[in-house]
Amino acid sequence: MSLRVFIGIGANLGDARVTVSQAIAALAQLPDSALVAQSALYGSAPIDSTGDDYVNAVVELASSLGAADLLQHLQAIELAHGRERPYRNAPRTLDLDLLLYGDEEINTANLQVPHPRMTERAFVLLPLLQLSADIGIPGKGSAQDYVDAVAGQRIQELPTT
Ligand code: ADP
Ligand code: MG
Repeated sequence: MSLRVFIGIGANLGDARVTVSQAIAALAQLPDSALVAQSALYGSAPIDSTGDDYVNAVVELASSLGAADLLQHLQAIELAHGRERPYRNAPRTLDLDLLLYGDEEINTANLQVPHPRMTERAFVLLPLLQLSADIGIPGKGSAQDYVDAVAGQRIQELPTT
């Protein structure tokens, strides 16, 4: 059975646009999964972090991978891009977050879905809503209802080149 899965992508080291594009290509190649849609690329100011602006995007997959399996694949793609974790919220080559996994709520030691901070982040909400304007977040209601509260966060859709 294939579920509607949304993945948040962020990068702010090196050529972040290239990294995000490569991550989308890697996600499109995941087993038992198909790329359904990808948002525009967005540029956003770092939150709780340092360095250059982030480049962000959200993709939708149709996937029959288990959630834990999917997380492992996301971490393998992060590692392939040389992600290091010197300290929490350090600038990162590539961050892949499992935002939504069908309508499931998951709370294990290494996986919380929906991603617990997604409703507080414009760089997640705006690309997510671009893909699905009426998307709901299990346990939290409509994603659209959280947009006003993040209006102070600097973010812009990047032009396609
Ligand atoms: P964040 O993405 O919240 O800024 P990190 O990427 O540094 O933070 O956190 C990575 C850790 O978060 C991983 O060890 C992973 O087990 C855990 N984690 C929990 N829930 C999720 C999720 N929904 N998606 C991705 N990682 C998650
Ligand atoms: Mg992460």
